[in-house]
Amino acid sequence: MRTYRVVELHGDGISAELSRSVHRLAQALPCRLEFEAVDLSLESRERRGDGVFDEAEALVRRHRVAIKYPTATVDTSPNKILRERCRFAVIHRPVATIPGIESNFKRTIDIDIVRIATGGTYEDAGRRIGLDTAVSLRVIERGPARHAARFAFQLAIQRQGGVVSTSKYTIQRLTDGLFEEACGNVARDFRGVPYRRELFDSLLAGIIMHPERYRVIVCPNEYGDFLSDTACGLIGSVGLGDSSSYAFDDAGQIELAMFDPAGGTAPDIAGRDVANPTAALFALSSLLRHLGEVDSSRALRGAVLGAIAAGERTADIGGSLSTSAFSEAVAARFGAGA
Ligand code: ATP
Repeated sequence: MRTYRVVELHGDGISAELSRSVHRLAQALPCRLEFEAVDLSLESRERRGDGVFDEAEALVRRHRVAIKYPTATVDTSPNKILRERCRFAVIHRPVATIPGIESNFKRTIDIDIVRIATGGTYEDAGRRIGLDTAVSLRVIERGPARHAARFAFQLAIQRQGGVVSTSKYTIQRLTDGLFEEACGNVARDFRGVPYRRELFDSLLAGIIMHPERYRVIVCPNEYGDFLSDTACGLIGSVGLGDSSSYAFDDAGQIELAMFDPAGGTAPDIAGRDVANPTAALFALSSLLRHLGEVDSSRALRGAVLGAIAAGERTADIGGSLSTSAFSEAVAARFGAGA
């Protein structure tokens, strides 16, 4: 049986039940995942300080693949620390309609949002000039733009779709212009993949009016942040999606990958076996695809979607199943070939 070592970064709140659900489905796989745990809970971070991040970074660098559960942010966000230490340059957020989930949006959407993980307006909180004026710097770097674009085109090949790069290149002519230049250069290496660029404001309207015209979207940091939540709103849930972070070596190959449910720690329901593990299981599915276990990845996602569509749901989306009962329902479908 193929065996993979996977670092498991435990966090706070519902992290424990999400991990149990991931382990339950991992048991059902035709390959073996050997998890190596690091405790990134607030208690552990307060007790061990930087040591806990030293351990996490060393293990992620050793095994190159990690799954992370939600962590509480008190001062600095653990996600930011991990991003800086592991040099995650690109974030991927798949957002697709989940049949059975209520939404105000009546169309089907299936997009992959690929964004630069750093820079944009997020590195500089700004400074005041006198009482009534403030400025901040906006950063766009060619290296991460190229990584994001390359990742987007490779994903588009897998997904048999096209790539749209988006920014405000007619206004931010030099910064977003540099981003678009990097995307355009990468596009030349992927002649067979349909590619166009669109202004970000027009893309937002386009996704709502013609969602079928969009498959893989690549953009700078802050636009990707806005777009991810907008798209999640369209599918009726900000909490059911997963997110992946990637670091690259000098040759542009993926060096490190971390997969996580995009939602929060939900302390109000922690420890009661009621949390919805859908996003964590989607994260596991994305991890499997990254490992090359494409059939298992697809089957797992299908099993989760099948369970939800059949009304086997946790309470937050109108069902009555516990976390563990939902995980069993997904495992049963997975075992039956979904
Ligand atoms: P954080 O500060 O970590 O973001 P939070 O509770 O402020 O935590 P969320 O974790 O996003 O923010 O939770 C918002 C609401 O959604 C809470 O009522 C929570 O119980 C619910 N919720 C979040 N995640 C889940 C989940 N996986 N399953 C069920 N309910 C959830």
